[in-house]
Amino acid sequence: MIDIKSDVVIIGGGVIGTSIFYHLAKNNVDVTLLERGTLASGASGACEGTIFLQTKKPGIHLQIAIQSAKMFKYLEEELDYDIEYISKGAMVVIPDEIQFETMKLFVQDQCNNGLNVELLDKKDAREREPALAETIEGATYCPDDGQVNPIKLTYAFAEAGKRYKRARILNNVNVEGISLEENKVRGVITNKGFISTSIIINAAGAYAPIIGEMVGLNIPIIPRRGQVLVSEEAYGVVNGIIGTSDYIACKYNPEIKNVNSSAGLIVEPTASKNYLMGATREFVGYNPRVTYEGIRSISGSIVSLIPAFKNISIIRSFAGLRPYTEDGLPILGCVEGIEGFIMAAGHEGDGIALSPITGKLISELIISGSSSMSLEPFRLSRFKEI
Ligand SMILES: Cc1cc2nc3c(=O)[nH]c(=O)nc-3n(C[C@H](O)[C@H](O)[C@H](O)COP(=O)(O)OP(=O)(O)OC[C@H]3O[C@@H](n4cnc5c(N)ncnc54)[C@H](O)[C@@H]3O)c2cc1C
Repeated sequence: MIDIKSDVVIIGGGVIGTSIFYHLAKNNVDVTLLERGTLASGASGACEGTIFLQTKKPGIHLQIAIQSAKMFKYLEEELDYDIEYISKGAMVVIPDEIQFETMKLFVQDQCNNGLNVELLDKKDAREREPALAETIEGATYCPDDGQVNPIKLTYAFAEAGKRYKRARILNNVNVEGISLEENKVRGVITNKGFISTSIIINAAGAYAPIIGEMVGLNIPIIPRRGQVLVSEEAYGVVNGIIGTSDYIACKYNPEIKNVNSSAGLIVEPTASKNYLMGATREFVGYNPRVTYEGIRSISGSIVSLIPAFKNISIIRSFAGLRPYTEDGLPILGCVEGIEGFIMAAGHEGDGIALSPITGKLISELIISGSSSMSLEPFRLSRFKEI
């Protein structure tokens, strides 16, 4: 049985928990990470690995994504781990004229906010990616978008953190309760014993609301399932990451209706020469299963976007649960009324891309009481105001 003391306890061994773990460990903080399964057994091990800037709405979302993308540039060297990081740009394909008009405004807005992104007409888009269907209307292209292997990234943070003496990771430890005294954190109750601490970080992803309930909080994070297909080794069908504009255009211009649950596809070539193709967006509770309808929907959309995929076999499929919030932003920072309880969850489809900056900001908050970027837009209490 465990009976230890730790200055900080992180709940959740996904990319967010391990990034915070690393950033605290390297600053010599005594920190313990608890994971009920093994590292990356949640969404961080069942997702794609794109680091998209051009999908972010100008404002705080784009700002935090830019800061995080800058950190990726030196992460591989800093963590001393091959995380399969590449930053070669990505394309977002626009299927029709209505979305083209919306994306024109979106791109203009992004450029005005300092992002290097351009709008391509159909001819230029197909010159860059000849495999695209003739039916497309155009595309946007951002040379600063990139990708990483999310499982390797999670392990890279964990391994780099464990090199510091005061940092430990305990797998197969399920958090079952939180002990409070006069609304101050006192410890964590687990299936393996008690850990005494005054600071808890809730990095449980889609399961963060269950941890919240342990201290009487209502955390508005909802699991949003995403199904992904893995192709056989088939490099060269497309040159780089390709997404579609459906989801972005719908968010930016609510008058455009989302056509199906797979709208907003991403095709991502991996270092092992397969393609990841996904993903659905479904509210089906805590159900991480792949469905026949999901597979059909993704493969049908892929073939109409890139007809050459018709001859490529799918060898595997998986599904993960994104930690969705209504405004698309994560919940980060201290929680009013519960001293020592810190939130770091709700990154929805951006958790991989935002993991470095999240780890940095949360560790700064713990070490110095404030962070280099204001966490005000990410506070839990904003949902009372929506
Ligand atoms: C299909 C799909 C595609 C995606 N594509 C991208 C992409 O291209 N780019 C991008 O940036 N993001 C992407 N995402 C989003 C990204 O995967 C998530 O935002 C990110 O992984 C969330 O990380 P996390 O650490 O918060 O949660 P998780 O990885 O889910 O980790 C939470 C951990 O907490 C543990 N846990 C829960 N309860 C307890 C408990 N009681 N005790 C102990 N441990 C507990 C779980 O076991 C889990 O390991 C995608 C997601 C999906 C599903």
